[in-house]
Amino acid sequence: MHAIGIDIGGTKIAGALVSELGEIIVEDRVPTPTTGSGQIIDAVVAMIERLSDGRDVEAAGVAAPGFIDVTQSTVYYAPNIPWRSEPLRQRLTERLDLDITIDNDANAAGWAEFRFGAGRLYSDMTMLTIGTGVGGAIVSQGRLFRGGFGAGAELGHMRIVPDGLPCGCGARGCIEQYGSGRALMRMANEIADVGGIGLGLAAVREQSGTLTGQDVAELIAAGDPGALTALRELGTWLGQACASLSAVLDPQVFVFGGGVSVAGDLLIDPIREAYLAHLPARGFHPEPAFVIAELVNDAGVVGAADLARVHSENR
Ligand SMILES: [Zn+2]
Repeated sequence: MHAIGIDIGGTKIAGALVSELGEIIVEDRVPTPTTGSGQIIDAVVAMIERLSDGRDVEAAGVAAPGFIDVTQSTVYYAPNIPWRSEPLRQRLTERLDLDITIDNDANAAGWAEFRFGAGRLYSDMTMLTIGTGVGGAIVSQGRLFRGGFGAGAELGHMRIVPDGLPCGCGARGCIEQYGSGRALMRMANEIADVGGIGLGLAAVREQSGTLTGQDVAELIAAGDPGALTALRELGTWLGQACASLSAVLDPQVFVFGGGVSVAGDLLIDPIREAYLAHLPARGFHPEPAFVIAELVNDAGVVGAADLARVHSENR
């Protein structure tokens, strides 16, 4: 039976009716209301009502940014949305005649890749989503890892540099400060500042007053040496982090999603090189696969829908 997946983002709420095979039957999207928490809940309720209208729907899953409790009901904390210990599942269940499950958005995207995308051939997957920040998801022995309080797998906030750059989370030296889209922009600007191989970056910055993510992506695609150096630096940090993650999680596959992952092998190659150089007991550890995510923009809604189906069958 079909299930509904909703993905609440900072700028838009996306939703879809999804089949058991992960296929999107109908989709919908609206801008995320900026007027408060109540309006976001109204928008989610309205979207679930539209998507389920006249259809047989088994369950609905809602993916939200932030910490979700282990019972998949309460949002402890969400960045950019004023939710603090918000009983989101109860608020939605009061208004909808459907089994509702709440999950973290990176977990939902990771689950979609594991079930239907780049991780589908494996039992143990670690996913890093390289967007503005760095999101994480872990599947171990076919199960989504959430931790004891539900707040686990926040891989972007694993510290890789003692007393390193300050992070939005309040700590210092997190992967997010060295392996995110925002970090790539910092590295590109630093290379432009020096000149030399950064002349392409410097020229574009001079022309438009600032470097955008689109500018850097275009320079990477055009083979600009400065932009490629920035991407290589980013990949090197990520590869070192993956080596540490392997020591703990031993995944068969690392999946990379998010906007920066469109760089494909140009991102994967330095990650893999740095991984092999930093792997503990290297030479004796079987090498995992390093692959780019396949579901891209649909992962959040597809994963949320499938997790809702799994929960509803287990409840
Ligand atoms: Zn952090």
